[in-house]
This record gives sequence, C-alpha cells and structure tokens, in this order.
Amino acid sequence: MIATKGFAAQTPGVDLEAWGFERREVGPSDVQFDILFCGVCHSDLHQVNNDWFPGIFPMVPGHEIVGRVVKVGNNVKNFKVGDLAGTGCMVDSCQTCENCKKDLEQYCLEGNTGTYNSMERDGSSPTYGGYSKTIVVREEFVLHISDKLDLAAVAPLLCAGITTYSPLRHWKVGKGHKLAVLGLGGLGHMAVKFGVAFGAEVTVLSTSPDKEEDAKKLGAHHFVVTKDAAQLKAARGSFDFILDTVSAEHDINMYLGLLKTDGVHICVGAPPKPAAISAFSLLGGRKSLAGSGIGGIAETQEMLDFCAEHNIVSEIEMIDIKDIQTAYERMVKGDVRYRFVIDLATL
Ligand code: NAP
Ligand code: ZN
Repeated sequence: MIATKGFAAQTPGVDLEAWGFERREVGPSDVQFDILFCGVCHSDLHQVNNDWFPGIFPMVPGHEIVGRVVKVGNNVKNFKVGDLAGTGCMVDSCQTCENCKKDLEQYCLEGNTGTYNSMERDGSSPTYGGYSKTIVVREEFVLHISDKLDLAAVAPLLCAGITTYSPLRHWKVGKGHKLAVLGLGGLGHMAVKFGVAFGAEVTVLSTSPDKEEDAKKLGAHHFVVTKDAAQLKAARGSFDFILDTVSAEHDINMYLGLLKTDGVHICVGAPPKPAAISAFSLLGGRKSLAGSGIGGIAETQEMLDFCAEHNIVSEIEMIDIKDIQTAYERMVKGDVRYRFVIDLATL
C-alpha cells in the first residue's frame, strides 16, 4: 500500500482535518500521479454534510484533480512518468454495459465508481478524493492535460467544465440560440464561457446583482437579477435553454416561465430537496425539464482539448488547504469568484 495524507471529514458535517491513509499499490493498468491542485465543488460540501445520501466516512473530498504522473503499471500505454494528468468525478465503471460502451461511463448501469464517497468495484474498498497528496487511478479514467494552460485553473474543468460542456453539446446549443445560465458560481461561470464559445446569446440569471460586471467580463450578453420582479417579467418567454446550476432549493416553475415554446430547462445543480413542479408549467408551451450528469471520459478529454485550443480555463481563487472551511462557508453564501482551488503544496 502507498501511505499518503489528505484532509478528511471523520463524520458527517464536521470540519475537515489532516488525516493519514493508504492508496492501493500501482497495478498493471494503473497510473499514480501526485496531486498539485484540486478544485472545490459544491458537491464536496453536499457530500461532507450528507445532504444527498448517507456517505462513507472518513471522507476525503475532491474530484477536480490535476497533477504529475510519478508511476505507471506495465500495461499502461498512454501515460509516462512526468506527464500532466487529471481525474474528475469517477475512477471506474463496469466498462461492459450499454452505456459504458457508448462512452457514457457516468451513466454506467451498474453505477460508476465515484472518485470519493464510493466503493471500488470490489464493493468493499472506499475511494478517497483529491484533497490529498497522491492518487492511483486505472488508466482509462485518467485524462491528458495540456501544458499550454495554467494548471491550477484547469483543475475545475474536470467537474465544473465537463458538467456544463456536456449538456450544451448534447442539446447542440449554439448560434441562433438564447441560453440562460441560472446561478453564477463554479458551474455557472464555465457554462457562460462555453455558451459564448459555442455561439449562443447568453444571459446570466442571478440572485447576486454585484455579479453583473463579472458576468459581462466572462462574455455574457445580458444579466437578469432574479429577485427583481420587473427584470424577470421582461425576460418571460425568451430562452431556448436554461442551464440550471443552482445548489439550493429554488422554484423551477418560475424559471420555466422564462422559456420559449419548446424550450428546455436542464438541471445540473443538485439541491438536496426534491422540487415541486406543476404540470401547467410544462404543458403551456410544450416545455421539457431535463437533467445531465458530468460527462463520459472521451467527452471530458474532448472538452479539455477544446479548452486548450480556445484558451478556456476557470476563474479561480487559490486557497491553502487549512482554509477549506472558510471556503465552504463562502460557497454557501454564493461568494465564490468563481472556483476555489486548493494548492496541495500547502498540505
Ligand atoms: P456554487 O459555486 O456554489 O454555485 C451555485 C450558485 O447557485 C451560486 O453561486 C448562486 O449564484 C446560485 N444559488 C445558490 N443558492 C441559490 C438559491 N437559493 N436560489 C437561487 N440561486 C442560488 O456551486 P457549484 O459548484 O457550481 O455547483 C452547483 C450545483 O451543481 C451543486 O448542487 C452541485 O452539487 C451540482 N453539481 C452537479 C453536477 C452534475 O453532474 N450534474 C456536477 C457538479 C456539481 P448567484 O449568486 O448567481 O445567484
Ligand atoms: Zn463537482
């Protein structure tokens, strides 16, 4: 086993603290890379707090992981020591089901193996995430990272990036479409960048009036303060797509009213409580309510390559790992500009 250290929550809802643990030895098809940076996703906070389901503790969060390869197994073909490498929200899947065969490992019919708060395929070894020094991942779930981009700012692409890229590609959002991005946080700011890069007319729907200038700098064409009734009324019936990145309870019916006929409201945000949807919000205007989860490995690589080509990275605030609780507190208040990234040199 490989001894390493990380930051872990020992039980649900407590502060994260330094913790020593072990990674598996590098197997024939594994890549080990030392972690340099790890993004802080709102999903980390949901899971540390047991918001969604009872988690596996101690929990080392973190699924926006980038670093440098230090060891590869004998059968590894595509990575060598010294390469940059990344891992997102999953580290394994069955690889044989219909969805895995279609490069949709995130929807593996047997369930994908989460990077943390999950069990390896053996059903008994817990996985630990990227708030740590080193990680061992099977080659198929390791991504190539371009050295053209700022590495710390690439980390959030592994979750916030792919989670917004994938639905925009799936629904072919682009020229001629009016896209609304609901919530300007980690996912939201990447959605704005991709929406603009794909040629859509992008509006940010936000509860935070002070984010307007940032939204415009990110490339958004319009900004609507959702707490302002007059601004909301003016936006009624105007969007082809809403990409909903909100992490907390919110009234989806209200936002469905902002869609055009045949418009699609895509949920990527994952609030803990179920939403109440009125059938009338959907049937008037033949609207669709949809969802999307991260993205497959091939599409994640496509997204990373697209970002390298178009010079797209996340807007980040680098933090010391000791300040993780403050980062979580600010995240709950919507005060993230626009992704915290942990510098693992501070661990
Ligand atoms: P984040 O950085 O905290 O951003 C969420 C944003 O939502 C906030 O900045 C805020 O934007 C808005 N918001 C927060 N509370 C709100 C409320 N009560 N009403 C309306 N708007 C509110 O979070 P994130 O890391 O982007 O993650 C967002 C959500 O996506 C989380 O639930 C996370 O678990 C989920 N997620 C899902 C996937 C997936 O595969 N589908 C992947 C990653 C994350 P404004 O200030 O602009 O209003
Ligand atoms: Zn995430």
